[in-house]
Amino acid sequence: MTATVSESRKSGFFFDFDGTIAPIMRDPGAVLPVPGAVERLQALSSLVGRVAVVSARPAAFLCERFSRAPQVALFGLYGMQTVVDGQVRTDAEAEPWAPVMRGLAADAARDLPGEILIEDKALLVSLHYRSVPALRGAVERWASAKAAELGLREQHGRMVVELRPPVERDKGTVIAREAESLTRAWYFGDDISDGRAFDVLRCREEHDAGFMGVSVAVANGETGDELARRADFTVDSPEDTPVLLDQVISAFPGHPPPALTLDG
Ligand SMILES: [Mg+2]
Repeated sequence: MTATVSESRKSGFFFDFDGTIAPIMRDPGAVLPVPGAVERLQALSSLVGRVAVVSARPAAFLCERFSRAPQVALFGLYGMQTVVDGQVRTDAEAEPWAPVMRGLAADAARDLPGEILIEDKALLVSLHYRSVPALRGAVERWASAKAAELGLREQHGRMVVELRPPVERDKGTVIAREAESLTRAWYFGDDISDGRAFDVLRCREEHDAGFMGVSVAVANGETGDELARRADFTVDSPEDTPVLLDQVISAFPGHPPPALTLDG
């Protein structure tokens, strides 16, 4: 913490969204950040060089949730979307895959049982089996066959399989680029895809003696154990992330944590 405060302008705080600063819910469209998270990220963004959210969510979804934190950078669809001056920009390499992904979403709706929630995010299709965990195997087999047929990437997560274009974008590539000019970087995540960001921080530490990475895992009974084993710190739930951030914020001289509000 002291090292981060002393190099605050060269420090960055990066966050996954679902399961990290927001609860996991059966209806993904209904999810909001946990109370106090937006305020903490905004407060941090005035204290350190970079604060960003890196998620599989579309950037437009993140923009709605973080409208009160304008200094927080937002990366959607694993970095295939960024927000520049309030406008969502889509990666030029990923964009040509839109028709393939549209076809995939239609195939999923036709082939998979009705209980599977299909989220069509234009360049990423999420297949949620949370309401019927017994269908996991069937969903994974279907997704693997489609990934092989269409040349797509597969990402497994908490009760979800995601398919996306084969472009080099993931939480690790985003963090590697974002942390390039930083000497301190913290990453908060809860799921398998967040392990890529942990790896990037660890690798940078091994090759750069002046760099310090801090990996924070948000525990969960689904995929959280593996990530927790590799983390520097673990918090018990998304609701505890603002509590940890309060400790960080209050380590900065003259900066008490912001007052908690009920609307997130
Ligand atoms: Mg997550």
